[in-house]
Amino acid sequence: MSHVMHTYKRLPVTFERGEGCWLWDKQGKRYLDALAGIAVCGVGHSHPRLVKTISEQAAQLVHTSNLYEIERQEQLGDRLAAISGMDEVFFCNSGCEANEAAIKVARLYGHGKGIDTPAIIVLEKAFHGRTIATLSATGSRKVQAGFEPLVPGFVRVPFDDLAAVRKVASNNHNVVAVLVELIQGEGGINICHDDYLQGLREICDANGWLLMLDEVQSGIGRTGKWFAFQHSGVKPDVMTLAKGLASGVPIGACMVSGRATGVFKPGNHGSTFGGNPLACAAALATLSIIEDEKLMANAVAIGEFINSGMRAALASHAGVREIRNKGLMIGIELDIECSELVKLALADGLLINVTADNVVRLLPPLIMQRAEAQQVITQLGALITAFLAANRIAPAKAKTA
Ligand SMILES: *Cc1c(COP(=O)(O)O)cnc(C)c1O
Repeated sequence: MSHVMHTYKRLPVTFERGEGCWLWDKQGKRYLDALAGIAVCGVGHSHPRLVKTISEQAAQLVHTSNLYEIERQEQLGDRLAAISGMDEVFFCNSGCEANEAAIKVARLYGHGKGIDTPAIIVLEKAFHGRTIATLSATGSRKVQAGFEPLVPGFVRVPFDDLAAVRKVASNNHNVVAVLVELIQGEGGINICHDDYLQGLREICDANGWLLMLDEVQSGIGRTGKWFAFQHSGVKPDVMTLAKGLASGVPIGACMVSGRATGVFKPGNHGSTFGGNPLACAAALATLSIIEDEKLMANAVAIGEFINSGMRAALASHAGVREIRNKGLMIGIELDIECSELVKLALADGLLINVTADNVVRLLPPLIMQRAEAQQVITQLGALITAFLAANRIAPAKAKTA
């Protein structure tokens, strides 16, 4: 019997080795990876430059703690500030920790304004993590159930609805910030309208709130820009990062700008591991590879290719509600629950995910090439077609009497 706590319903496969978009299991069977370790392995598996950097850094120095200056952390801070336009960064080890830091910044900012019970606006279907504060911010009862009492201080509004945010602004004078995923990942690849961010910026500025973006899944090139907010001309006050930042070496980051800069003072926050030399070296290498190999342009091209290919493959199926993407965040929404597709794809040598019950989610490595993308389209198109035929109750035929 396994001594690992049973928190995941794991698929019955053990991967032993990876290269590019491919993984091999212990029996030597090959799998095409269209999930990239949940948006983590953007530069693919075992990228030679990444392997070299991690090996050399490990041989030189892994960890010293934040009691001392860390050159690699300074370098990564400079690099992230340069590509984001944000001012400063706090390093931690995961997405939920990055959001914890953002929530703490917002609360401290509120107290600085004399608000004793600061509140943060969060969205329906949002996912911000599994710690007590971040699961309270998350808009999913499944994630919260059994862990009450939830952390207070969150006000929930529908996704992509500026009127709802404005209504809170006029009624609730404890609000200090809005925390948003511009593209909801776990929530089902829900993509906000182009003018949503601009609208949020205006509301935040009019009310003195912090605009906080959770880019844990959408950041680091995945949508075709370094960060999803860069598709609009608007900058946030706080941004959180994690998944794709260091290609699988654990890291998280909470970046601040404008009125959020300087809120944390020495002693307000900390992390033992956060921003250690190994994680920062892996992140620096990841960012260089994405830039040098023009992977953001590739994410746009391959995202479009998969979207149009899946549309063509599934055009005739009434059970397909919508196919949508921003770069390589891709969702195929069916009109029935379809988590079974994950197992069928695995048997077929293809790694995919299903989220929000009925959305097939693809988060391929940013390095994916056309031939591999075509294989995803062909295999997944056939799997979804067969799945719908077998599981979907055909709409009753209109009686022609
Ligand atoms: C995955 C994810 C998180 C949580 O990250 P962990 O590293 O698992 O704590 C938070 N926000 C978003 C948008 C995510 O996709």
